[in-house]
Amino acid sequence: MSDNEIVKEVLRELKKNEFNAYYAQNGDEARKLVLEMIPEGASVGIGGSLTIRNLGLVEALRQKGYKIYDHWDETLTPEELKQTFRNQRTCDVFLCSTNAITRDGQLINLDGSGNRVSSMIFGPQKIIVVAGINKIVENVEQGIHRVKNVVAPENYRRRNSPAPCAKTGHCIDCRPPAKQCRALVILEARPRISADFNVVLVGEELGI
Ligand code: SF4
Repeated sequence: MSDNEIVKEVLRELKKNEFNAYYAQNGDEARKLVLEMIPEGASVGIGGSLTIRNLGLVEALRQKGYKIYDHWDETLTPEELKQTFRNQRTCDVFLCSTNAITRDGQLINLDGSGNRVSSMIFGPQKIIVVAGINKIVENVEQGIHRVKNVVAPENYRRRNSPAPCAKTGHCIDCRPPAKQCRALVILEARPRISADFNVVLVGEELGI
């Protein structure tokens, strides 16, 4: 199957799972589409995502005057950080990526604290997930393998985390307190109450 056919299949399967599925050819098109999807005056929570930041969406939203809840803002005090996580749960629009998308349209994500996955499941009025084609995997098993052996080691290495995989480059199934990844969530379909759940698949590699 060609890349094009795989993308069409994933979009079709996402729709079967009741996600609103969109395709953008490249990052520029994805940024434009996402900005059009965010209502004027909305508060916007930003999940921990290189994809969202590399697309320049945080700066674009700030420039347009949106209220942003971004826990990667290094100026936040510990109390402000906690409040930012809470605000992400109740914001108008939550913007994030996903660690993997299966060919049959399921989203797989692994969090340390669960703030991103919880905001994806319940709370915000609108969810927008942006993902490059590098996130597509055959099935749930491969998706979990990807998040534990590709995404987690790279993310933890970048953050100078004590997670063992940051050094080994692959998961060793560690246990607490070393274990940094603690909430593995598979969205088999759109959570029932989240009527406005959108997935933008981008025809190029983005994020990890
Ligand atoms: S279980 Fe441990 S080694 Fe495996 S991905 Fe999580 S933190 Fe890394």
